[in-house]
Amino acid sequence: MHDIMDNQEQVTKLIADHGSPINLHHIPSFLKNIKDFQHVFQKHKIDGQIYFARKANKSRSLVKAALEHGVGVDTASYNELQQALALGGNTENLVLTAAIKTRSLMELAIDNNIPIIIDNYDELKLAQNVAESLDKKANIGIRLSGFTVNGQKLYSRFGFDIDTKKSNLLKWLGRDSGFHSVILTGVHFHLDGYSIEQRAEAILQTLAFTEEFDSAGIKIAYMDIGGGILINYLESKVEWEKFQERLQQAVLGNHVPITFNNNGLGFEKNQQGDGITGKLKTYPYFNEVNSAKFLESILVYAREGDKPVVQQLRDKNIQLRIEPGRSLLNQVGLTIAKVVHRKKDSKNNWLVGLDMNMSQLKSSSADFLLDPFIMYKSPVDESKTTELFFTGAYCLEQDVILKRKLTFPALPEIGDFVVFVNTGGYMMHFYETEAHLFELSKNLFIPDDNEAILLDDSLPEYATADDWIKN
Ligand SMILES: *Cc1c(COP(=O)(O)O)cnc(C)c1O
Repeated sequence: MHDIMDNQEQVTKLIADHGSPINLHHIPSFLKNIKDFQHVFQKHKIDGQIYFARKANKSRSLVKAALEHGVGVDTASYNELQQALALGGNTENLVLTAAIKTRSLMELAIDNNIPIIIDNYDELKLAQNVAESLDKKANIGIRLSGFTVNGQKLYSRFGFDIDTKKSNLLKWLGRDSGFHSVILTGVHFHLDGYSIEQRAEAILQTLAFTEEFDSAGIKIAYMDIGGGILINYLESKVEWEKFQERLQQAVLGNHVPITFNNNGLGFEKNQQGDGITGKLKTYPYFNEVNSAKFLESILVYAREGDKPVVQQLRDKNIQLRIEPGRSLLNQVGLTIAKVVHRKKDSKNNWLVGLDMNMSQLKSSSADFLLDPFIMYKSPVDESKTTELFFTGAYCLEQDVILKRKLTFPALPEIGDFVVFVNTGGYMMHFYETEAHLFELSKNLFIPDDNEAILLDDSLPEYATADDWIKN
């Protein structure tokens, strides 16, 4: 990222060629994240497999890189699946976990022998029906939910409830059921939130469940524990804590606002007006236990007097699958936009208008809390700092790119570039829209540090894999 920011000429050319903003992806960083997880599997001598949760980023270059490096891809829509097939995916390395599975999507998966994670009884019937009409077998895993952790049942709108649907599942998927075109080979869950304990407990409860299938003569070959592996975005824990403290003080009126219109990002003044209610509604940006260490913590978890999770998986000879999205994209992406204007609002705030809009850098939570960088074209006097907000192109008062008031060495000039770092996971793509007929940002990738920057659109979209190889 710093190399790119140091190369004014290169970024000037990229923006001139592709418009503003651009999203840049660094494939070597993606491969490093893959290796870090694989290393954990090796260290604990467990049969583990990674499926990159593609929904976290739209780029084809990442799908291609994953498949070329022995990593699978978790697809969640017709287009995601079709594109993954076009990029070299197959029955061995793809999985379909889509929340809604239409008949055509089911046909595409079954026709290509792609394992399907089944969420409900209607889907199970559809899988049977489609497989039968295609004269194929549907290879399925079942999604489970409703695990109990510390006496609390974890609610989810997804999956079969592990308590209430257990006997039905055994009946439906047992040897002599009517679902003779469906073959159950795996179990799956994906938990909301980022709890290590909940994931480990869910594994143990799912393992106990697989024993009942064993007794019924059905061999479960893999357990897929979904994603939600925490990453760490920040350098300093102190800064992270100070920020929250100061935000609360600002909301209470004891400190000048540090966010646009004093947005509490989830914190609110209580009714008496003397304290804070609510919680910070952002991703937990600072995490000491993150990435590979987070995965390892799940594996070494043990109930008192019991064997660790990893040993139980090994003993049962079950492959462990993970579906990381965000955590494979750590340090992979950045978003660069051009400064169009500067102005002062009536509250004396500097507002810097960028050639981009709020949907091109949008978090599902209250704000994205990383500090961007400015690439100044001309040398600046760093003795005076400037506080400012970035604003976007949508005709909404709320199109403020980041809610925090940001501090920079100087006010940028028109034409300077603003670089938002570590935006690869969800930030750049998940909520992007084309309101006002603005075009979506262009995606570029760096396949290798010694190679040229390429356009993601140059990779095949819906062609066949053969076409791609020929090209
Ligand atoms: C969203 C999702 C993932 C990826 O989650 P991350 O938090 O990005 O790791 C994996 N599996 C399923 C089923 C999902 O819905």
